[in-house]
Amino acid sequence: MRRLSVRPALCIVVLVNISSYHTHTRLCKHASGVPSDYISQALKDGCSSLGFSDHCPYPDDSVWFGSRMACAQVPQYIAQVRDAQKTAPFPVHWGFECEWHPAFEGWYRDYLRAECGAEYLVYGSHWVGVNGDLLYIPDISDSTLLHRYADLTLEALQTGLYDFFAHPDLFLSGFLNMTDDVKAVCADIIDTAVEMKIPMEINGLGLQRPKIRGDSGMRSPYPVREFWEMAAARNAVIVCNSDAHRPEDVIASCKNAYEFAREIGIEPVDTGTALGFIR
Ligand SMILES: [Zn+2]
Ligand SMILES: [Zn+2]
Repeated sequence: MRRLSVRPALCIVVLVNISSYHTHTRLCKHASGVPSDYISQALKDGCSSLGFSDHCPYPDDSVWFGSRMACAQVPQYIAQVRDAQKTAPFPVHWGFECEWHPAFEGWYRDYLRAECGAEYLVYGSHWVGVNGDLLYIPDISDSTLLHRYADLTLEALQTGLYDFFAHPDLFLSGFLNMTDDVKAVCADIIDTAVEMKIPMEINGLGLQRPKIRGDSGMRSPYPVREFWEMAAARNAVIVCNSDAHRPEDVIASCKNAYEFAREIGIEPVDTGTALGFIR
């Protein structure tokens, strides 16, 4: 009887470096690590370029101060990124993740962008205004507020302030049924982003959140397959980022976002390329 020789399978590991431009730091009070920690981890995981986009402060520390850096910490944020930048063997850029409210237009445009010199602004559509309060959108499931949220979001996209739109489907955390009304809001948001040429982000952090039951079964609160199928059908520019709040997620979570995209047939654009930083 012939004995079969068992040869170890030849294993080819393809290392693909990817970029992520949605990275937080501990200055925002709900993330850990400083820029150099994220850069060390990104180097281990394979990174082509990295962007820091910590949550912006607001004038007089007046908005969501429990989860935003203080105005006085902006110089520290910039200095930490610049110091870390010197040690990185890949390009490092920086900016802020900002919400939108017309009252803060000058803050975003004249202060964060012009005076601080932010290289890019990420639109993080986190809130809707109700009677002077800014409510966190994933907690909202009311249709009237959904439309108010949509109006604010379309207005933001039309300002030309933002370089990409983080988790544009975050609001679907509170809307579990893809009714015609909800789909119409998705379509309006996608169409405006396409018209304004703003890349939209499949967000890796959302994939780490506990699953919830939507009308087509268990899903992540965001990203939501139906939203991204609509975005792809409407020729949106789609990017993937981690939204890392811990150094270990800086690239790993971005890879999860890529996997989500590819499972539904989307080939994302590299964020560094979409922003014009990498040619
Ligand atoms: Zn955050
Ligand atoms: Zn973020």
